[in-house]
Amino acid sequence: MNAPDLNPTSGKSPANASSSTASIEHFIGGRVVPGQSGRRADVFNPATGAVTGQVALASKSEVATAVAAAQAAFPAWSDTPPIRRARVMFKFLELLNQHKDELAHCITAEHGKVFTDAQGEVARGIDIVEFSCGIPHLLKGNFTDQVSTGMDNWTMRQPLGVVAGITPFNFPVMVPMWMFPVAIAAGNCFILKPSPIDPSASLMMAALLKKAGLPDGVFNVVQGDKEAVDALIEHPDVKAVSFVGSTPIANYIYETGAHHGKRVQALGGAKNHMVVMPDADLEQTVDALIGSAYGSAGERCMAISVAVLVGDVADKLVPMLAARAKTLKIRNGTDLSAEMGPIVTATAHARIKGYIDVGVEEGAQLLVDGRDFKGSAAGAGCDNGFWLGGALFDHVTPEMRIYKEEIFGPVLGCVRVNDLKEAVDLINAHEFGNGVSCFTRDGNVAREFSRRIQVGMVGINVPIPVPMAWHGFGGWKKSLFGDMHAYGEEGVRFYTKQKSIMQRWPESIGKGAEFVMPTAK
Ligand code: NAD
Repeated sequence: MNAPDLNPTSGKSPANASSSTASIEHFIGGRVVPGQSGRRADVFNPATGAVTGQVALASKSEVATAVAAAQAAFPAWSDTPPIRRARVMFKFLELLNQHKDELAHCITAEHGKVFTDAQGEVARGIDIVEFSCGIPHLLKGNFTDQVSTGMDNWTMRQPLGVVAGITPFNFPVMVPMWMFPVAIAAGNCFILKPSPIDPSASLMMAALLKKAGLPDGVFNVVQGDKEAVDALIEHPDVKAVSFVGSTPIANYIYETGAHHGKRVQALGGAKNHMVVMPDADLEQTVDALIGSAYGSAGERCMAISVAVLVGDVADKLVPMLAARAKTLKIRNGTDLSAEMGPIVTATAHARIKGYIDVGVEEGAQLLVDGRDFKGSAAGAGCDNGFWLGGALFDHVTPEMRIYKEEIFGPVLGCVRVNDLKEAVDLINAHEFGNGVSCFTRDGNVAREFSRRIQVGMVGINVPIPVPMAWHGFGGWKKSLFGDMHAYGEEGVRFYTKQKSIMQRWPESIGKGAEFVMPTAK
């Protein structure tokens, strides 16, 4: 990274790290704060397998320090006029645009996704910052003149206080930006607990926010694992928790956060289907399936992992898919010609490989086997990285584990069905309901599909229908616990509470105590 003022590390290496590894710390009260717990985790470059950093893992008391810093900043920040808060967001936006490629490089270095995809991730995060610049308009309340004679009633929305965001490894910039720009612009103070797998981008964003003029304590980062998460979801001064990650943890955060009286939105895992109707354009459909199944090595919550092939389309499409999957350009993400990078960790690599074994044992037909891909083919220095090729299964059936469970890797399964009803019933019976897509030329099929499907985000000839900043993001069923989607107007509602005020003045108050339920007069 060539911008020293954005360097997310303290520059000191812990005793057990080699001198070239970075020390990745917390950001509390406007400054980098070295971890004190004595616990750290290795951070890897997935392309090479090398340890590049050691991230601090916060203790309960370090989390309490961050909450106290945020709590101390809240009165002044929440009292700051929304337009002045928006001006900080505008400045942040300007700085993000100046430094977006440094953020993208940081993502590629710790996550592994290809640089151009990382640039796309940063751009989609910036969309939410742009949305948040409109916060004065978004916080406007409703007013009714004369609800009773001489009496007015209005509603306004006020910030909650200290709010926390707990985020997954797969979008270390975009997913935090689903949360903190909206929360901060609305007047809250924010604590981000990023994934310890790729933690550095969080500190770059903290540095940019500080440079944009955000007061100390309004945005804080605590690095960590379950201990930090539990401290946040149990802390009495944390009023709301936004979570994005796997379904079991989302469920746990939702239940535990609610038990501790917090507002919670917890976005979970996914198994996204793409229905291909017999009238779909085959070339376009193959491009869409390949990009959405293998882009980011399938480590996107909106990745397509099941192709539902209707009628005779399967026999035409599957050979085209297989040919394309075999020629994916799998390279170090720093190579601009790369279409797919490595898997994020050795653990994830073993899990995905294990699922390919399971699929073979279950009787699905493995047409393209990614297990034998060697890092040496991905570029110089990649021999010890976490590499897999794209895998393609045909004749996957609904009882198979590779159909039911989230694999979260570059594995696409094809399920064959007879008609649209069978496709819709299949998808509606699945426990996840994050994203779905239908490729067709028939408007009526598209309309019926959109209306009947039990999934939160639908694409018609759009493989990855991630809604724009002002529409909000959220799945259904076990893909989201809670009532409100991330960002957009639902995000503003999530990070604010409504207050209703009724007002009259002495001139309009009648005489005598009223013992009946007041009604409009
Ligand atoms: P994860 O659930 O392992 O981790 C998410 C966060 O929870 C991290 O910050 C992690 O440190 C923390 N965490 C992990 N284990 C915990 C525990 N036992 N107790 C408390 N906190 C814990 O998810 P991941 O592997 O980082 O990300 C991939 C998952 O996220 C996939 O399931 C993917 O579908 C999902 N995801 C969903 C969306 C969505 O919008 N629905 C978006 C991105 C990713």
